[in-house]
Amino acid sequence: MDARDEQVPQLPTAEPLEPEYWKRRGLAEMSRAEWEALCDGCGKCCLEKIEDGYTGEISYTNVACRLLDVGTCRCTRYAERRRYVPNCEALTAETVLALTWLPSSCAYRLLAEGRDLPSWHHLVSGDPELVHRVGASVRGRAVPESRAGPLEHHIVTWSA
Ligand code: SF4
Ligand code: SF4
Repeated sequence: MDARDEQVPQLPTAEPLEPEYWKRRGLAEMSRAEWEALCDGCGKCCLEKIEDGYTGEISYTNVACRLLDVGTCRCTRYAERRRYVPNCEALTAETVLALTWLPSSCAYRLLAEGRDLPSWHHLVSGDPELVHRVGASVRGRAVPESRAGPLEHHIVTWSA
């Protein structure tokens, strides 16, 4: 069964943010701008997954959701994405830990697990391109859905 439980790369906010606010506030206490700025723009959560119908085990693939721009690693229709991808999962402070398929590097998952953001995260480094340069994003590795063929041919481990 395909488990297109994908979710939510956001555009960076223009609102000034308090330095290291994520160390002082829990996910549930953040403003919308603070929440959205946490996304590192990796695009990994927008890759398709395969769920074993018997065991529930998730396999990760390098196949991008049809709305993902594999160059920028951003959703091309974020505001209206549910019209096109109804099962695009909404990430909230309450659901982060339940979404076990979120990649281990996901900023929301890291904070929900009580860990800190990595040094390459744009809120730490100040450089939104660093996530790509250090190889922590899908850039250069994701395949557009329209060219992929069977998902089973695209299983990878780097997006976990
Ligand atoms: S995996 Fe997490 S940090 Fe990366 S794009 Fe998705 S929501 Fe953002
Ligand atoms: S609809 Fe957009 S946010 Fe949702 S998985 Fe696809 S590319 Fe990602």
